[in-house]
Amino acid sequence: MGKLFGTSGIRGMVNRDLTPELALDVGLALATCLKNRGAVVVGKDPRTSSDMFESCLASGLLSGGCDVKKLGIVPTPVAGFAARRLGARAGAMITASHNPPEYNGIKFWGNDGMAYTPEQEARVEAIYFKKKLKPVAWDRIGGVEEVDVLAEYMDEIAGSISLSRNYKVVLDCGNGAGALVTPHVLRRLGCKVITLNSQLDGFFPGRRLEPTPENLRELSSVVKSLDADIGFAHDGDADRIAAVDENGRVAQPDKLLALISAHQLRRRGDIVVTTVDASSVVDECVGAKGGKVVRTRVGDVSVAAGIKERGAIFGGEPSGAWIFPSVHLAPDGPLAAVKILEFLDVAGRRLSELLDEVPEYPTVRKKMACPNEKKAAVMKKLRARLKRDFTGVTRVLTIDGVRLSFEDGSWILIRPSGTEPYIRVTAEGKNKEDAGEKAKKAVGLLKSLG
Ligand code: MG
Repeated sequence: MGKLFGTSGIRGMVNRDLTPELALDVGLALATCLKNRGAVVVGKDPRTSSDMFESCLASGLLSGGCDVKKLGIVPTPVAGFAARRLGARAGAMITASHNPPEYNGIKFWGNDGMAYTPEQEARVEAIYFKKKLKPVAWDRIGGVEEVDVLAEYMDEIAGSISLSRNYKVVLDCGNGAGALVTPHVLRRLGCKVITLNSQLDGFFPGRRLEPTPENLRELSSVVKSLDADIGFAHDGDADRIAAVDENGRVAQPDKLLALISAHQLRRRGDIVVTTVDASSVVDECVGAKGGKVVRTRVGDVSVAAGIKERGAIFGGEPSGAWIFPSVHLAPDGPLAAVKILEFLDVAGRRLSELLDEVPEYPTVRKKMACPNEKKAAVMKKLRARLKRDFTGVTRVLTIDGVRLSFEDGSWILIRPSGTEPYIRVTAEGKNKEDAGEKAKKAVGLLKSLG
């Protein structure tokens, strides 16, 4: 059977991989999966193709007997929030997150406000590929309602927090959906907000959407020249956050994740969830405050599922997708911005000082070409060999590729790419030489097995 869903929903080039016909059938497949009843909330980002996919997905849902509650343009976390708050059966978000403007995608949400798990997605996929789509009779076709949940959502994420002073914040929304929320929420908290790229524009003329240092140069320089306390950036659908310190440096994502993780702990034994590719600095910061780190597969859905399963207090990926379960189980960029400010406020110090206290461990990344059909066999052989070839291994994790931890806290992750014909190697060491050596050894081993 084919696959529709990747690590973050359905994603593809508009009118090539992701077509109106596909969106229509996927809408009907979801309605069929929901037994042809109840309401589904539908949100979209400002891409040029989002109206088109919203119409098609909604038509599919209506023809399958579901009602559609249109949220309009909203950040992705709002789709999760609305599905739960409005008592819908499910939610759908039309977005391609940080991908270029010629892409779009569809991501589903459960009525618990959590993104669909691979198992839930597989049920929709099975209906789609086995052509078990069930339209309803003319008198049971669903209805459409437009719903505005943004005010309620902003109350929820800003409501629990107050700041002791008025921070000066530069915010770069990348012309994405975050512009509808984050500036307002921060102003409500008393911040002086200077926005960049905060007009919605489906061509995303301001910058590339992934909030990486090379895409945030303008933000960095504005933070510095305006003498701001902090800078924030979202990806296109604002489920992610990046921060810039008062000196204009983009915060290293693992270090920021480590600081925020430790800050969320309330009592000894509290659990933080992160993915197999996050730095060991997260374990160090959380461990120092008596907390425990649980690792999951890469992807925000795995983090959300891990939080739910373990009753964790917080979970996040180094990509900047952070989940605060006291509010909801969606990775939430606006909420993350609020939580970073709260952290600064409680600490009463500059972000640069706080970041400088956290060690940064060098990471080396390599990849080996490997055809998709050979990946499983190579990984199987690799698992049998690794413990013999590497010494000083304290822990082997096989939930997503293979992750070996060593006595000194260094680690190596060998993981087949989900989308490309590669096996990727990530090694983190206490120094560059150590990381380089481990990565080289793993690639050598992979080559001998492939
Ligand atoms: Mg995103």
